[in-house]
Amino acid sequence: MELYKLTVHEAHELLTKKQITSVELTRSVLERIAQVDPTIRAYITVTPDLALEQAQRVDEKLAKGERVSPLAGIPIAVKDNICTKGVRTTCASRILENFVPPYDATVARQLRALDAVIVGKTNLDEFAMGSSTENSAFFPTRNPRDVERVPGGSSGGSAAAVAADIAIAALGSDTGGSVRLPASFCGVVGLKPTYGRVSRYGLVAFASSLDQIGPLTKDIADCALVMNGIAGYDRMDSTSLPEPVPDYTKALVPDVRGLRVGVPREYFVAGIEPGVEKAVRGAIDRLVALGAQVGETSMPHTKYALAAYYIIAPAEASTNLARYDGIKYGFSTRDATDMLDGYFKTRQQGFGPEVKRRIMLGTYALSAGYYDAYYLKAEKVRTLIKHDFDEAFQKFDVLVAPTAPTVAFKIGERMANPMAMYLTDIFTLTANPAGVPALALPCGQVEGLPVGLQIFGKPLGEETLLRVGYALEQAH
Ligand code: GLN
Repeated sequence: MELYKLTVHEAHELLTKKQITSVELTRSVLERIAQVDPTIRAYITVTPDLALEQAQRVDEKLAKGERVSPLAGIPIAVKDNICTKGVRTTCASRILENFVPPYDATVARQLRALDAVIVGKTNLDEFAMGSSTENSAFFPTRNPRDVERVPGGSSGGSAAAVAADIAIAALGSDTGGSVRLPASFCGVVGLKPTYGRVSRYGLVAFASSLDQIGPLTKDIADCALVMNGIAGYDRMDSTSLPEPVPDYTKALVPDVRGLRVGVPREYFVAGIEPGVEKAVRGAIDRLVALGAQVGETSMPHTKYALAAYYIIAPAEASTNLARYDGIKYGFSTRDATDMLDGYFKTRQQGFGPEVKRRIMLGTYALSAGYYDAYYLKAEKVRTLIKHDFDEAFQKFDVLVAPTAPTVAFKIGERMANPMAMYLTDIFTLTANPAGVPALALPCGQVEGLPVGLQIFGKPLGEETLLRVGYALEQAH
């Protein structure tokens, strides 16, 4: 049996029935990595020894008949902007190339506490800034569905790892679409949870008011299982929500009868590929057939979201990235003449072009005289975007839209044109300023390339998203 192909829930069942061991499962995934990752390049760091030690411990527990968690013994990949104690965490940046965190992010600690097997750290756009994983300072990742194409970004390594069966599940981070877009391009499931649902402690900050960690998985049931593992209050994250965490697997009921589904017309605009629209409309028709009540709605401020996002996210990034000064940790230039020169050269040599672009945009937007015109205005637009969601959720339980206007594009195609790259996230980057959860799941193909459906939910409405996703998955 090709164990690496298993889902989390399938592997858990076989482990607890003692039909396989975690060491066998982990070996199978590690061998597959050795075989396909030289082409895909999903991983920056693979940790085979740590993984096998952890697998061994789980097998001992299972042999003793101990009860184990649904994630126990399961090989999981973690995006390389999530701190892992003792394991290099680079953010795909030269400036953190040799950074080994002295602590675990809360999500990494949770995975370890549940006996998950962390197999490695996945590639991303540098500091999660990008939509294709081509902004990695090390190498681009390739889309397993077509290796000439990008896997999406910025969690491209995590999505590609799941799609290529070189991780059973993975964690990514989503500031404007970085879990959902690569999920869509690679044909896997990705969830951006409600802001505050999953702890951000130990996630290297990009735009703190937007960042959220989420799962990338092979199916909806696995998404629920990973959420059960990582959701919840954390006193180490001041934006963490205190609300109790439901058992997300209880939402795995294929029933959407009577559910009110809104279709915002601003998400079906010029620029969307006809095949993508057709696949998304097909999924909407399936929801109707399953008994959902579908209606059109309008979210009039959607057209300002991209502009507002590209003020707010760079503004926050410019302050968050001020800490990389070559003094406390990370890369430090060797040829400084004095302290100031050291700061300049460290940052010149340590950051890539997209990161520098964001720092400049953000610093400009926050500077005296421009703050009101740009940053403050963008924050007001953010409130209007949130308002659009509040209004729509008065009438509907969920909203459906495409995840991206196109399928995965060719490597190199958008690198020369930052605006074309930014437009890739046009449909995803509304959820982050509004703080609402959003799920991406496969809903069809265009010439063999996956199309992602996106479902937005009310704050803390993850269960409803999973229910809709499950119903569609079961019906497909
Ligand atoms: N592509 C968007 C950006 O570059 C979103 C990235 C993300 O969600 N981390 O900012």
